[in-house]
Amino acid sequence: MTQPTFDLDLLTTPSPRPDDAPPPARVSGAARATPSSATARAIPEPATTSSTTPRPARPLLDVRRIYVEPEAAALPRGRQVLDRWPDAERIEVASHWNIPELHGDETNVDRWVRIKTEALVLGVKKSLAARPNGRSADFIAPSTANGCAMACAYCYVPRRKGYSNPVTVFANIDQITGYLARHVARQGGKAEPNQCDPRAWVYDIGENSDVSVDATVSDNPRDLVDLFRGLPTAKASFATKYVNRDLLDWDPRGRTRVRFSLMPDRVARLVDVRTSRVAERIAAIDDFVEAGYEVHLNFSPVIVHDGWLEDWAELLDQVDAGIGAKARAQLACEVIMLTHNEALHEVNLGWHPRAEEMLWRPDLQQAKRSESGGRNVRYRTGDKGRYVAALTDLIAERLPSCRVRYAF
Ligand code: SF4
Repeated sequence: MTQPTFDLDLLTTPSPRPDDAPPPARVSGAARATPSSATARAIPEPATTSSTTPRPARPLLDVRRIYVEPEAAALPRGRQVLDRWPDAERIEVASHWNIPELHGDETNVDRWVRIKTEALVLGVKKSLAARPNGRSADFIAPSTANGCAMACAYCYVPRRKGYSNPVTVFANIDQITGYLARHVARQGGKAEPNQCDPRAWVYDIGENSDVSVDATVSDNPRDLVDLFRGLPTAKASFATKYVNRDLLDWDPRGRTRVRFSLMPDRVARLVDVRTSRVAERIAAIDDFVEAGYEVHLNFSPVIVHDGWLEDWAELLDQVDAGIGAKARAQLACEVIMLTHNEALHEVNLGWHPRAEEMLWRPDLQQAKRSESGGRNVRYRTGDKGRYVAALTDLIAERLPSCRVRYAF
């Protein structure tokens, strides 16, 4: 098998590691749903050497080149981003969607992270629409960014815009916030409570990016938090794997929901590349609640492997021990089982085959043709329901304060 092109330690940010992780937790018999012993597979050793190995400080972003649409450069937000990196080379592009040197070479995996770190794209969001959703949120808001500086092995975002997919910032933030304010006004009050929220219309503002990282690039996320602070019938929401403590000063007054995305740490060390460590995300929960955010948990993607429920029990215990009464009183989660993709699998084999040993499990998964014609895989019908039930039972047992908003 091909060895990884990258040393994962060199790709990660210098966040603290949970050196004092407790021993594996025991899981009650009722909550077990381990794949059969014939198919069970242990977690491959992560590329990191030990939990005490010092990490070199490598920034998520060290912007050297900005690909910029002229229309974006003329807008105040565009100028703000350009001014933030005055020494970066500026390369004019006709469309943020069509930059072959960033998006065109899916096999050049060893350039990915360099591109993610050094390149930024500045464009204008052309079509503005809030799409009905009904799961993570009532609506998916028009993006104010897409792409990501992190590099999770399972990420679906890269499939849409090549595989390096650096951060693209949309400079027409005033149009986007204006559209959103009008869309919220058209909905009126929420008459019927639903799992998204009992009272507010929830808008996911981070479908195609990680908003906490976007906030290191531009003030777009802050403008959205400011907008929703003044919208009593609506709430912004985003999932994140990055702890950006700058957000603690934004005074959201309960109108923005942060969904910290969590999975067991020993799995995250393998598949969450360049993200904040799981312990750091848990440690941030109370601080974000205290700062006025609603904080939920995004248990996603849930990856089945030998001993997965023991790992999840340990994670749930860590959350339970790591949060205070105020966070507990408002806690809820969503549970999303892994969906993987054949094209991404092929690409990942070139740089991170050990992650694929966990993500690509033909012995547990079945194929499903996606709307775009790609071949997705997910856990087999029947088994998947059993996994979902086992994990939701485990949440009820180990973290009873956490309401499950939805699970699939
Ligand atoms: S943090 Fe989210 S958007 Fe970024 S690479 Fe990971 S899964 Fe993708």
